[in-house]
Amino acid sequence: MQTVGSILEAKNAPVLTIGPDATVVEAARLMNERHVGSLVVTEGPRVLGIFTERDVLNRVVAAQLEPARTRVREVMTSPVVVCEPAAKRSDCRALMTERRVRHLPVVDRGRLIGMISIGDLIKDEGREQAETIQHLYTYMHGEWPQPVGTA
Ligand code: AMP
Repeated sequence: MQTVGSILEAKNAPVLTIGPDATVVEAARLMNERHVGSLVVTEGPRVLGIFTERDVLNRVVAAQLEPARTRVREVMTSPVVVCEPAAKRSDCRALMTERRVRHLPVVDRGRLIGMISIGDLIKDEGREQAETIQHLYTYMHGEWPQPVGTA
């Protein structure tokens, strides 16, 4: 049973945060630079909200707001749905489907420790399925086929 904690360990990436008074331009630049689709909005240790690329599209571009004059606090989502590191992967996936979100900040005893995206879950599910296929194939055929051209 895969937990969020084990997926976070394998991912080994810091959770990216931004302050509520940053502008949408600053948030978009940070997301671009770090190749992520969401930022947790924090003030000190407090999680205030979440801002994702979907918000850039729906609440800024489609609403014709000026990105350089719009503060993140005006267009973020609050409150934030979070999960704990002990949560099962399947429960997180169900929560994302139910709440129609692709990002879940991970909070351990009130402290923000990471971020899990739908992409992280799909990647981990694919890894596990590949392992299962290899085990079953080896069980049936005695060995896993070597790639052509290797010794
Ligand atoms: P996403 O699909 O994650 O890009 O987000 C879709 C919408 O849900 C956006 O308005 C986000 O701000 C919001 N959202 C994303 N993740 C969360 C979350 N964990 N808790 C609350 N809202 C979220």
